[in-house]
Amino acid sequence: MRPIDQFAAKEIATLEAASLRRQLRERVRDGVMVREGGREYVSFACNDYLGLSQHPEVITAGKQALEQYGAGAGASRLVTGNHLLYAPLEAKLAKLKGKEAALVFGSGYLTNLGIVPALVGKGDVIYADKLVHACMLDGAQLSGATLKRFRHNDMAHLAELLAERGQYKHALIMTDHVFSMDGDVAPLEKMAALAQQHDAWLMADDAHGLGIIHEYPNGVDLWMGTLSKAAGAYGGYVAASRTVIDYLTSAARSLVYTTGLPPAVCASALTALEVMEREPQRGARALELARRVVPTAQSAIVPIVLGEAEAALSASDKLKEQGLLVVAIRPPTVPPGTARLRLAFSSEHTDAQVEQLRAALESLQIQP
Ligand SMILES: *Cc1c(COP(=O)(O)O)cnc(C)c1O
Repeated sequence: MRPIDQFAAKEIATLEAASLRRQLRERVRDGVMVREGGREYVSFACNDYLGLSQHPEVITAGKQALEQYGAGAGASRLVTGNHLLYAPLEAKLAKLKGKEAALVFGSGYLTNLGIVPALVGKGDVIYADKLVHACMLDGAQLSGATLKRFRHNDMAHLAELLAERGQYKHALIMTDHVFSMDGDVAPLEKMAALAQQHDAWLMADDAHGLGIIHEYPNGVDLWMGTLSKAAGAYGGYVAASRTVIDYLTSAARSLVYTTGLPPAVCASALTALEVMEREPQRGARALELARRVVPTAQSAIVPIVLGEAEAALSASDKLKEQGLLVVAIRPPTVPPGTARLRLAFSSEHTDAQVEQLRAALESLQIQP
């Protein structure tokens, strides 16, 4: 073993001992079914909430763009990679969010890594909800701004922190719109009022809201999101004023120094957004199915918090024995002691599949 292998092996052993080792498994998706190791499962573990990754129109749009424009963008967007599918996609995203303009990035992760450091830096302050997605925190760290965390959805705590802002020049408030591991919704109207009162900017990550929640309150300066979840494709975006988008086009390093998305991906995403708009009943059904299992569900994501990582893993294994794929989410994705099952519902689940899940949870005495 070379020294680097010794290091890696030791780290793996530590992760294994804490039930925190992660491994890739080959899985084939077909609608809401997932095949793994010769068995088929009903998946409650995909973010394809509206089934659009497999929609015939979305696939056809991708194929046509692939044939017309080739496999790759060939360069960064600012060089020769800004192919013809970007403008309609960005126009659609801007309109959806009620903003003047939008900018598409390589992924949601890259969007946050790019926009946060472009907007704030040393001498500025970021206020982030305790439960924001990891990529906002990575963007925050990269920016060099001071990071302060407020208790989850606790507006009194945020107000307290804003009141003590002191010498920081710019302030950016960051939150998920729909929280990725909890499925609850941020109080954006209250947050926007606080932002205005304290001269702060507000950014909301809509990765899990798109297609499910159709209201976009005013006063959010930056709506970022992904095209990889309900939009069924790949890519990330931010919608904002035309001036902010213009600035980010020059300043977001994860846009400037990376290749544009393949044309086929943009074409599929654009078509998926069109289907989403034309068929709002898809999002309504995903939400309604979630509410059959947990009546208080606010989105297509429903957590069942079990505590320790082993408890969540064991529950996930037992559901798997019954033909149901439900992921166990463990630290560091969620805070220690809050390992959980994360149920993700899709408009494409049948009534019978959702009933099967409900009955399985009941038989295992897992209480949502
Ligand atoms: C998935 C996710 C992202 C990252 O989006 P990708 O396009 O998958 O990189 C960002 N924010 C939140 C809240 C997410 O759930």
